[in-house]
Amino acid sequence: MDEKNRPLRDLRISVTDRCNFRCTYCMPREHFGSQHPFLPRNELLTYEEMVHVIASLLPLGLEKIRLTGGEPLLRRNLTTLIEQIRELDSSLDIALTTNGALLHDHALSLKEAGLNRVTVSLDALEQETFQSLADTTSHTPNAILKGIESAIEVGLGVKVNTVIKKNVNDAEILPLAEKFETLGVPLRFIEFMDVGNTNAWQMDDVVSGGDIRRLLRQSFGPLTPVQGQKASEVAKRYRTPSGYEFGFIESVTSPFCGDCTRARLSANGQIYTCLFATKGHDIKSILRMGGSTQQIGHAIASIWTKRNDRYSEERGAQKPKDTKVEMSFIGG
Ligand code: SAM
Ligand code: SF4
Ligand code: SF4
Repeated sequence: MDEKNRPLRDLRISVTDRCNFRCTYCMPREHFGSQHPFLPRNELLTYEEMVHVIASLLPLGLEKIRLTGGEPLLRRNLTTLIEQIRELDSSLDIALTTNGALLHDHALSLKEAGLNRVTVSLDALEQETFQSLADTTSHTPNAILKGIESAIEVGLGVKVNTVIKKNVNDAEILPLAEKFETLGVPLRFIEFMDVGNTNAWQMDDVVSGGDIRRLLRQSFGPLTPVQGQKASEVAKRYRTPSGYEFGFIESVTSPFCGDCTRARLSANGQIYTCLFATKGHDIKSILRMGGSTQQIGHAIASIWTKRNDRYSEERGAQKPKDTKVEMSFIGG
């Protein structure tokens, strides 16, 4: 347990800090251009090292792994990592967060390797809006939809995440809602967050979960909060009269730090105890000095015991630090 009585149940692993998109709210091109110092290969944890960390956390009660990044499907042979995790523990819940651009090609092999679930990020169905938000001309919303359909076909659990920025893609809320209700795929709206230091976040650009629900009610009718959700579930769910559920991840207007059981492992082997942390704790050195699972488990347990992060609950109470780590590095 950490200082606030929160157990460590989820580990998010950033398998790469690189991405084939440049979403303006995450990796704005002016900060992540060709001169950006991405991690060199020898600094990246190997799959064996990641599995070693996971093995060390199982005795602490780890239940879920989420592979993320950057764009995790850019890391070569990701299925090998999934197979190794599955071999280590047949009951761990293994999920992947992806922008979906490469999902169509990989869905079947990911499923066969033992992946349970995939969360696909998609912020617009309208091509121009999509390409301007993701700052790409090489990918289209149709390709992402094709990836989503392939993931459903092979039997992966699928959810879709959408970040809404005011005056950028708010016109996409209803089209996305209608599309995914028809497909029967849960859609979750994420409030635009002040993660990192490069996305020029300001409160005025946030569209709150409450605002989105008001809009959805006009088309879908009353939304009833779903009772009995697990405390560690970050999305608050609301059901339409037809039984479809929308999720809302309201880390700005309704933070959920009290139930936060997530640790993050960056691609270069540092443990972060909060998405908004300014520094990580080096685990790679222990791994590369041949640390046993017991030694690594002990090191992470001692970091976790001292954890008292609750950034989102304190947002606004203090001046934001300009040394917060970037989301593409730490893993979203
Ligand atoms: N590249 C993958 C993707 O986009 O799904 C995985 C990594 S990405 C950092 C993980 C999630 O973080 C995505 O759903 C993305 O929309 C979300 N995200 C990134 N920056 C954000 C921000 N400033 N506010 C809210 N969500 C953000
Ligand atoms: Fe890449 Fe995902 Fe960040 Fe977009 S949100 S830039 S797809 S890591
Ligand atoms: Fe967890 Fe930090 Fe987010 Fe709070 S702000 S929910 S402690 S990651």
